[in-house]
Amino acid sequence: MATEEELSSIIGRLSLREGEATRHSTSSLTATRIDPFLTIIGKLHCPRVVTHDSIATHCRNIWSLRRGFAVRPVGENLVHFKFNDRIDRARVMQGEPWLLGRKYPLVLQPSYDLSADFDLCPWWIHLYNCSLDLMNEEFARFAGNLIGEFVEVFTDANRNCIGRFLRIKFKISLKKPLMRVLQFEHEGRDLNFPLQYERLAEWCYHCGIISHVESGCPTKPPSVGNSSKSPEYGPWLRAKGYWNPFVSKRPANVLDPFFVPDDSDEEVAPWSERQFH
Ligand SMILES: [Zn+2]
Repeated sequence: MATEEELSSIIGRLSLREGEATRHSTSSLTATRIDPFLTIIGKLHCPRVVTHDSIATHCRNIWSLRRGFAVRPVGENLVHFKFNDRIDRARVMQGEPWLLGRKYPLVLQPSYDLSADFDLCPWWIHLYNCSLDLMNEEFARFAGNLIGEFVEVFTDANRNCIGRFLRIKFKISLKKPLMRVLQFEHEGRDLNFPLQYERLAEWCYHCGIISHVESGCPTKPPSVGNSSKSPEYGPWLRAKGYWNPFVSKRPANVLDPFFVPDDSDEEVAPWSERQFH
């Protein structure tokens, strides 16, 4: 049986007959049961098919919403979330990326368009080695758009980005290798800015793509004997710790109220600023 994707591909190759080739306008239709402010479409990037019940159970556990939601399957690993509260929906969108089973990205689209792009996922990264004059929103936007599609940069209440690293959110393609470094020529100097990714759970150490691991990599040649070549990607791409916007209690051992240690042996609070008078 053909999947929805295969059907679209087949239709694209056909010579359409009269009636099939006419594009009918829907602009005169007014009835809709979809409230765009309560709706999200989510696609789970997982190598196997997962039931919508299982997706919903995982989401309920990690979202902890005030008024809950309902789900319907609308495709393979594709579900329609209908929220009972607009604030709940906004919090879910703001909290991206979401990983189900701590591994598989659930990409959300704030619309009811099933043909939307579900390969772009918002992600937080840490950009290291920035000189202080580059720790600002303009440079963060510039750098974020080099890596993917800039979304926002983390600042303190005074819109100040200066800290141990720039924390930037941007949309990355789940079909492309992770970027590991950005290089700049700045005031006559060549600078390397390494990247680390928050909440990175599993990714391929061979090709750098998030949706599979090295043992299932379609581009990795079969190994002959013991290869001494170290992999191009590794656990050093994972940022230590992440900031969960839904945490209400301040962890006792860190300065930043949103900081959640991520199996980390290092506690980081890079934007803490204390005033002295
Ligand atoms: Zn791979």
